Amino acid sequence: MTAIIMDGKALAQKLEAELALRVKAIKEKSSGRSPILATILVGDDPASATYVRMKGNACNRVGMESQRIVLPQNTTTDELLSEIDKLNANPAVQGILLQHPVPSQIDERRCFDRINLEKDVDGVTVLGFGKMAMGEPAYGSATPAGIMRLLAHYKIAVAGKHAVVVGRSPILGKPIALMLLNSHATVTICHSKTQGLKEIISIADIVVGAVGKPEFIKGAWIKEGAVVVDAGYHPGGVGDIELSAVINKCSAYTPVPGGVGPMTIATLIAQTVEAAEKSSFSQDHSHRPSLDPSLHSG
Ligand code: NAP
Repeated sequence: MTAIIMDGKALAQKLEAELALRVKAIKEKSSGRSPILATILVGDDPASATYVRMKGNACNRVGMESQRIVLPQNTTTDELLSEIDKLNANPAVQGILLQHPVPSQIDERRCFDRINLEKDVDGVTVLGFGKMAMGEPAYGSATPAGIMRLLAHYKIAVAGKHAVVVGRSPILGKPIALMLLNSHATVTICHSKTQGLKEIISIADIVVGAVGKPEFIKGAWIKEGAVVVDAGYHPGGVGDIELSAVINKCSAYTPVPGGVGPMTIATLIAQTVEAAEKSSFSQDHSHRPSLDPSLHSG
């Protein structure tokens, strides 16, 4: 079986080219002012610093500005809340990204939830999650929303399929499960207490690896013809799924790297552009809130 390679890098580049035109149009309507994505990095985790830099670079590529806020490792919850308050109140800022994870002394959930819904372009608030789950307008969490874009682009049938999501984190496992459900998949969510994981995965039409452990999901567990989505990325260029053992028998898969990762960033930028189009900043009120496109796929 020749599997479809769901090339997130290529799709992200295509999306960025479209976004650059939309940013240009926004600037024309707002006397040349650029939409701004504010990024908040707390502490000195090198991986987080790299992710924030990559997001800033993506802003530049589409002609948009990013405002970088870097806070020290010993930042308190109140200090972070006050930074978020300032960004919420700043009409020049259309999107706010708080890089996860923050240092352990900070109440991350409280800080995420302080972000105004209309600026929650990374889809991290409880309100945004709830609205997404109910099929109401909200920006989806960027990684799962990026996965849904990828599935839709490659015309992967989701409705009626059995999707097995391994992982239940607030930013990935839970939202992707709800997005697949909204696209009419039958969804099973697995986690560290799940019993019979191998058997559950073996009957999946779509497998989503969101475990955070290198090649934890073995190729042998996955049935012939399944669609394989690997959100993981680990040193050595492997994901959460043993892809080398599955690419010859699955019907489609996301490569690692170059699958889910680039789509996360492109989706964040797309949602920031959408927020700028909806805000009074762009002077254009023709854009009404729309459902995340992922909700219509399948
Ligand atoms: P996380 O918060 O650590 O969550 C991991 C999940 O895996 C948890 O729900 C955990 O279950 C579950 N799990 C752990 N051991 C398990 C086991 N033995 N069997 C079944 N489930 C198990 O991780 P995350 O933030 O969701 O990230 C998951 C992966 O996606 C990581 O590889 C990460 O690097 C990647 N990721 C990629 C992007 C991107 O942009 N490409 C973005 C975010 C994450 P419990 O809930 O029971 O503990």
